[in-house]
Amino acid sequence: MHFTDLGLSAGLLRAIGEQGYDTPTPIQAQAIPHVLAGSDLEALAQTGTGKTAAFVLPILQKLTSQTDSPLERVSRNRPRALILVPTRELAAQVQESVRTYGKHVAIRSLAVFGGVGMQPQVTVLRRGVDIVVATPGRLLDHITQRTIDLGAVQTLVLDEADRMLDMGFIRDIRKIIERLPKQRQNLMFSATFAPEVRELAHTVLRNPVLVEVARRNTTIELVTQSVIPVDKDKKRELLLHLFENHGWHQTLVFTRTKHGADALSRKLDQAGIRSAAIHGDKTQGARTRALADFKSGKLAALVATDIAARGIDIDQLPRVINFELPNVPEDYVHRIGRTGRAGSEGEALSLVSHDERIQLRDIERLIKKDLDKSIIVGFEPSANPPREPAKAKPQPRRQGSGGGNGARSGAPRSGAPGASRNGSGARGQRDGAAHHNGQRHR
Ligand code: AMP
Repeated sequence: MHFTDLGLSAGLLRAIGEQGYDTPTPIQAQAIPHVLAGSDLEALAQTGTGKTAAFVLPILQKLTSQTDSPLERVSRNRPRALILVPTRELAAQVQESVRTYGKHVAIRSLAVFGGVGMQPQVTVLRRGVDIVVATPGRLLDHITQRTIDLGAVQTLVLDEADRMLDMGFIRDIRKIIERLPKQRQNLMFSATFAPEVRELAHTVLRNPVLVEVARRNTTIELVTQSVIPVDKDKKRELLLHLFENHGWHQTLVFTRTKHGADALSRKLDQAGIRSAAIHGDKTQGARTRALADFKSGKLAALVATDIAARGIDIDQLPRVINFELPNVPEDYVHRIGRTGRAGSEGEALSLVSHDERIQLRDIERLIKKDLDKSIIVGFEPSANPPREPAKAKPQPRRQGSGGGNGARSGAPRSGAPGASRNGSGARGQRDGAAHHNGQRHR
């Protein structure tokens, strides 16, 4: 199938051509005809599948074909399409896609998010916009101050709905939906069909068409995943060693906490590895700058927390490092989805200490795969890790995800990370180290 088969206008096809795309991705091929036909849509698709164009293209097409509603076109503060997203970065990126794909059509758009002044957004809204891409909190501020009127919205998109729910936006979303006309088209995109996502779908969508694309990240072929067992207190040193030995560039490093991200980024900088941290406590300006510097290659490392990294879209990001494993196994899949994108290969490496064995087990169950373990010489984990007080098993925020692929069930249990497992069975740790050192992680 080609984009020309989807019935898109010449202006959109031109913009798509300029991006170098000629074949729609599976989510685009499946979703675009339904959206153009006016159906509600429930789509299971993650970042990296081309989902943004799957809703942006048909929305642009529909809005530009409405030449018979000149009144709507000139009305102020009254967007005709509303795209709700969980994070500021994603809002900026989705609006960028709107601009890219809408380059040759007369559509005005605005990204509305917090952390920056209200006034510039108010000014643009007053001039009139067709598409608003917004995070829920700041949009509610505009609603309260009557600087936006959602009474003309024809299409609502809930992008990364699972993440918006994780971030506690459900009440905001419901308040926003109350302001929308009853008659409208609703499109919901989510990486998982967790129960709370289903519940939202039931209340918002009307007879939706269900579209489900393979979870790109669980196809795994494009992302080489492996684990380096290491003692917790050696992780920083090991990371520096890996950066120095392999001359890594454009490496996205995940930590669990904002504080941890800051501390690690400082450490990398001190060692001469240019890096920045990106998390919720950073100003919007700092986040945008860090992302731009990372994208342009000025920074070798971007240290991020899960939420801040959502929606980071960099073509051909070569490598993702899990400095710490996430507590929620689905976040691992989101994290490694930052690499191996749009058909390029990527590498995902996790530094796993003994206290993270439960998280590792849960991840391996979710992806139904035991990850390769490689021990680095000089960083062998201690044979007898310090005894810790028994910890409760971390409770995932989402359950039963995995897009109907029966995630969490029946996968074999992996060995503990310190067990130095490899292709030829369990070995002593030194043996494993000698065997593996230097063979991967390039
Ligand atoms: P998304 O899932 O929307 O975040 O898109 C992931 C990446 O795929 C982005 O870098 C897009 O520019 C790219 N992309 C979107 N559609 C296509 C396509 N039809 N062919 C190739 N790449 C695409």
